[in-house]
Amino acid sequence: MDGLIVVDVQNDFCSGGALPVPDGDAVVEPINALMDQFPVVLATRDWHPADHSSFRDQGGPWPPHCVQGTAGAQLHPALHSDRIDAIVDAGYEPELEGYSGFEETELERLLREREVDTVHVAGLALDYCVRATALDARRKGFAVVLHQGATRAIDAQPGDAERALDELREAGVQVVAD
Ligand SMILES: [Zn+2]
Repeated sequence: MDGLIVVDVQNDFCSGGALPVPDGDAVVEPINALMDQFPVVLATRDWHPADHSSFRDQGGPWPPHCVQGTAGAQLHPALHSDRIDAIVDAGYEPELEGYSGFEETELERLLREREVDTVHVAGLALDYCVRATALDARRKGFAVVLHQGATRAIDAQPGDAERALDELREAGVQVVAD
């Protein structure tokens, strides 16, 4: 069984958001198309308390983003949310990094319950949460396919996106163009 994980397609990671991924909005249409191809669709959200350890005022690298319950933490309005079977929230405690959708969440259980053995990954951002989620899926024994056309990178350091793709391929992730 094939399942799609839509990673963090939230307002704060898109244009006008608190931590916009360059060209982040461009993932929405390809993801809407992908969602029609898979019998199982799960979505993750970055879902932080206001004092999350990744925020600059707590000594972390990022401006505050995806604070629980705010508009910035909602899924992008153009995403076909009615196709999503379940939403999994990550990074919901101050010290939970939450880059991976599998970290202290029900994501693995939801996939196993639905007899998913091949996980397709798309969303934001390639070099952070998409990377971490895909690598964790491999560690847990899933076959993993990354849909490169349906993801975008932050690329804080030039080359981060390419390095992430190399790392994913080395971990056995199949990278496809769509
Ligand atoms: Zn975050």
